[in-house]
Amino acid sequence: MHPLAMLSPTLILNTLNKRQSEMTKLDIHQIPVMRDNYVYLLHEADADLTAALDPAVHEPVLEALKQKGWTLTHILNTHHHNDHVGGNLALKEATGCTIVGAKIDNYRIPGIDIEVSDGEIFALGGAIANVMEVPGHTKGHIVYWFDASDALFCGDTMFAMGCGRLSEGTAEELWASLTKLMALPDETRIYCAHEYTQANGAFALSVEPGNEALVNRMKEVNAKRAKGISTVPSLLGEERSTNPFLRPNSSEIQQTIGLSTQDNLSIFTEIRKRKDDFNAVNRQYFK
Ligand SMILES: [Zn+2]
Repeated sequence: MHPLAMLSPTLILNTLNKRQSEMTKLDIHQIPVMRDNYVYLLHEADADLTAALDPAVHEPVLEALKQKGWTLTHILNTHHHNDHVGGNLALKEATGCTIVGAKIDNYRIPGIDIEVSDGEIFALGGAIANVMEVPGHTKGHIVYWFDASDALFCGDTMFAMGCGRLSEGTAEELWASLTKLMALPDETRIYCAHEYTQANGAFALSVEPGNEALVNRMKEVNAKRAKGISTVPSLLGEERSTNPFLRPNSSEIQQTIGLSTQDNLSIFTEIRKRKDDFNAVNRQYFK
């Protein structure tokens, strides 16, 4: 007997609807704003819902919505920094959209309506986001993982070949958060919030120059940036093989930083510190 035959018609319908909804994929549109920010529009066509992910500003978002013919229904925020929430209130005023953010940051996410916490899901129609708390860059940072769309919106926690700086949290927290994200499938697309790839890659090469995957990736990145093409999203699988912050086990990295230990946290902490020093020295080139 088919397993569904044992269920009542209502249950069968619910089961089928659930399966259907688990398959709902987002249409994702990237909007470059300000110097190096990316805002994303997440469109769920079946339910005709559209969310803006970390709208740093409002006007380019309204312009993109108009071009796409989409109506803004939601804002999803990853954390409270102004280059992620700066457009919240103006967009809410213009569209009446609902704002979703971290419960523990409810006092500093402008206009927040729906508060979410680690392990909860947020449904944009049939598109389901798993919410994960990833402290480190800030205390209240969250990410939205839409697994059916292979899409992770990770704000300033992980970047292409990089990770967020420790503006509030500790290296221990950020390492634990990155470890959580590393458990996701290789085909997960990393929709981070900034085009920092070239500068991150220059640092990555400084600690792991013999990594062939990294050398090749940088060639591609440089070619894209020369034409003004976005390097985001990348794939988690690529990050695993080229992002120094995810590679404490690399013997070359351990050698470069003079730490041969099994203690991943110590290695991560040292790499994070070196990246800050590298940024300070190279600021005139990268910022
Ligand atoms: Zn930030």
